[in-house]
Amino acid sequence: MMNIEDNGQGNEMNQIANKSVAGDELTHLHKATIMMVDDESLNLEIIQLHLEEAGYSRFILLDQSIEAMDTIMQEEPDILLLDLMMPEVTGFEILQYMRSNEKLKYIPVIILTSSSNPEDKLYALELGATDFLSKPVDASELLLRVRNTLTVKAYQDQLAYYDALTGLPNRRLFVDRTSWTIQQAERAGHAAALLHISLDRIKDINDSFGPKAGKTLIQDVAKTIQEYVRTADVISNSRKDNDEGLIARVAEGEFSILLPDLKHSEHASIAARRVLDALSRGFLVENNRIVLTANIGISIYPEDGKTAERLLSTAMNASGQAKMAGRNNHHFYSKEMNAHNIAKLKLESHLRDAIDKDQLELYYQPQICSRTSTVLGMEALLRWHHPELGMIPPNTFIPLAEETGLITPIGDWVIQESCRQTRAWQLQGLDSLSISVNVSGEQFRSHNLKEVIENALHSTGLEPRYFVVEVTESTIMGDLERSFDLLNELKALGVSLSIDDFGTGHSSLSYLRRFPLDEIKIDQSFIKNVHDKQEDAAIVEAIIALAKALRLRIVAEGVETHSQLSFLQQRGCDEIQGFLFSKPLPKEHFPSFVNQEQAKTGSA
Ligand code: C2E
Ligand code: MG
Ligand code: MG
Repeated sequence: MMNIEDNGQGNEMNQIANKSVAGDELTHLHKATIMMVDDESLNLEIIQLHLEEAGYSRFILLDQSIEAMDTIMQEEPDILLLDLMMPEVTGFEILQYMRSNEKLKYIPVIILTSSSNPEDKLYALELGATDFLSKPVDASELLLRVRNTLTVKAYQDQLAYYDALTGLPNRRLFVDRTSWTIQQAERAGHAAALLHISLDRIKDINDSFGPKAGKTLIQDVAKTIQEYVRTADVISNSRKDNDEGLIARVAEGEFSILLPDLKHSEHASIAARRVLDALSRGFLVENNRIVLTANIGISIYPEDGKTAERLLSTAMNASGQAKMAGRNNHHFYSKEMNAHNIAKLKLESHLRDAIDKDQLELYYQPQICSRTSTVLGMEALLRWHHPELGMIPPNTFIPLAEETGLITPIGDWVIQESCRQTRAWQLQGLDSLSISVNVSGEQFRSHNLKEVIENALHSTGLEPRYFVVEVTESTIMGDLERSFDLLNELKALGVSLSIDDFGTGHSSLSYLRRFPLDEIKIDQSFIKNVHDKQEDAAIVEAIIALAKALRLRIVAEGVETHSQLSFLQQRGCDEIQGFLFSKPLPKEHFPSFVNQEQAKTGSA
């Protein structure tokens, strides 16, 4: 018989950190995994009963001693109650095996003995028995022995696995935990990241303020990092209950954090920057505010190391490289990751200044009536004039802006500027032009889109009916309820709603009816092939028919040829946008384009 009950992670005992309250300590002790090996299963059951009554809950019972060594190796219990006289493999042999095994050497073993032979006891003692308990067991004696043994073990573990100054796991436990997490990650096919934080100037602080102040500072830093890990959204929820093993003080001024279940390497980068931010907020040392700088090295499992030791050493190596790049940096171990990260960081820091430095500009692409060829309006398309890289197309920097939250100020600027410009043109005589503005997913999900649009309209004097909000299908399909509410609010403002890139996302026909939409823009990929691919032609036809049935305005994007134009005209597409008429134009050129077209069509 082998019986494992509630076998959580065996080394729970290791978690006893700086707890002095007796009750607290007892609950921790009760989480210990207790293994018992005795060929008489009745004995096992009686002992389990006593221990259960006292609050213990994790048991491994084994009445086949031949299986004992494998099970101990596998389960690494916190304590073993071992019978001596058993057929097949005796308790002596098991004890001897354990004491010669690196992994099992320190597991306490209480010998259950009915033998009154003092020689046996002496021999067991010699082999490394921790204590004795005579059979039949007396309940109170049993509980006392088990508790005392576990308490001593907890204390030893505390010394062996925890950093005395901060109460955090030390390097040894961290490596242990990391190994375990890696095994889980391997099974689940997840990635993980290890962040190694190396504080600057710890020695200077010790020298100037004395070692006591230095120690307090390290404790404060540990608390800050712990607090960060506890609240960080980048650290998977599944491990929050057990985050203790994920942070460690691995050396004097060095901490490590493990991010299990890493979804994206970006998250490691974000985590590193947040830690650096948190540290740079400053600490009070002897009434002086000290701003700490640090360097963080990041290694990724499995790319940069498949073992815990290797991951830690690659992360340490990377933190050294971060230091060479200047203070308060983070650095990935892998070269590619770094290059990618650096390029992105540079771009991001430049993007932060883009608005203030007037590097953003809106271009306007005309939208033409397919029947009369008059210009009905234009789409505002964002351009970034980068000081070194030249013109950067929106598809490159908008995803970055979304990721970093910069989309909010940028998007607000686009809305404000496009309203201002449209109103200015209307006042110059281009009176009925409407403006279409792209709104990204992040912007749509932000809470004040309606206010931003309302303010822009109000402050510029542009009437809402001239403003068209373009969103993609995937943007509104995220949270349907919320989208429904928001679209209705926008609609109530009096603006128009358009679905951009229609046909590329998950189009659900029912929402087209449910949402208060005004317009559909057929994605340019279908227009491109209307003449070569029958399927695309069929899709375009179907979309136009659908829009007509739902009384929605239909716009075709990316029209480049006359034959595409006539295909669309024949099917009754309302508006055309594309290079055939005009590329997106800088604002200086837009009015003359409109005037030219008006002259051509004779509409004044
Ligand atoms: P979109 O909204 O679908 O914009 C149409 C894109 O197609 C524009 O690219 C436009 O220049 C291009 N285009 C127009 N006619 C033709 C044509 O005949 N042939 C070809 N090959 N292309 C044509 P652009 O300006 O590079 O913008 C790309 C995307 O970036 C936009 O796609 C939009 O999703 C996004 N974007 C642009 N400006 C903004 C903005 O202010 N805010 C947000 N959130 N996204 C923007
Ligand atoms: Mg668009
Ligand atoms: Mg589009």
